[in-house]
Amino acid sequence: AANVCLKGVTFSYDNAPPVLEQVDLSFSRGFYLIKGPSGAGKSTLLRLLCKLDIPVAGEILYQGVPYSRWDTGLLRTKLSYVQQMPVVLPGTVKENLMLPFKFNQLRSAPRPDDDRLREWLDYFLLDGVSLDSRADKLSVGQRQRLTLIRSLMLEPEMLLLDEPTASLDPQARELVEQLVEKLNMERGIGIIMVSHNDFVPRSVPARHIYVEGKKVEERKYDSD
Ligand code: ADP
Ligand code: ADP
Repeated sequence: AANVCLKGVTFSYDNAPPVLEQVDLSFSRGFYLIKGPSGAGKSTLLRLLCKLDIPVAGEILYQGVPYSRWDTGLLRTKLSYVQQMPVVLPGTVKENLMLPFKFNQLRSAPRPDDDRLREWLDYFLLDGVSLDSRADKLSVGQRQRLTLIRSLMLEPEMLLLDEPTASLDPQARELVEQLVEKLNMERGIGIIMVSHNDFVPRSVPARHIYVEGKKVEERKYDSD
């Protein structure tokens, strides 16, 4: 069954012409790549999916319930959004990882203990990074992996990733891509990822969604 469903969604900023018009689409817990030209509305689509923006017409449903009836905080524990540039606050790795418990009042997920946090650092191959390390001293690739771990703290069902590898060098990019695949494959977390490069997951089948000319549609991947 589809987790997130858009029905006739139209969106425009203020009084500008619509960025997206009459979009019908559904997402399950699979792996989705969002592609399309710059300025087409890919980020806007993600912002709509995590209720940072609200459609001017049509509706979005999560588990069959319209977004308007979902508590926004609760919805954002289910659909966790990671923006393009990794944002970490000055402070330790542990303080950064625990931020979701501070900012999201619902805290439905159990608070992880230090051992659990260290397991996450291992899972994301953050060797040599300890819970007491200064987060703002990490490399950009490490910070991006830290923000991914942080996005998992409230145990989301889906991750919404806006070009998570845009600011990374090829090596760091490949690592993040593999880790995102692993999250989908091993933990069943749905992935909706805006991706400019020609990344195609190796271990999981991906669906390719194109945003262009105010429309959003699934297409067969064409490597040309
Ligand atoms: P993409 O992610 O595909 O590059 P965006 O979703 O960022 O595209 O932007 C789609 C269009 O909406 C662009 O024309 C952009 O300039 C415009 N836009 C984005 N954010 C805003 C905003 N906050 N206010 C007004 N226009 C915006
Ligand atoms: P992205 O392509 O990742 O959305 P942008 O550089 O297009 O990044 O946008 C960066 C920020 O500026 C976003 O918060 C976006 O909403 C805002 N923005 C983009 N275009 C406009 C616009 N035409 N007017 C106002 N804000 C905009």
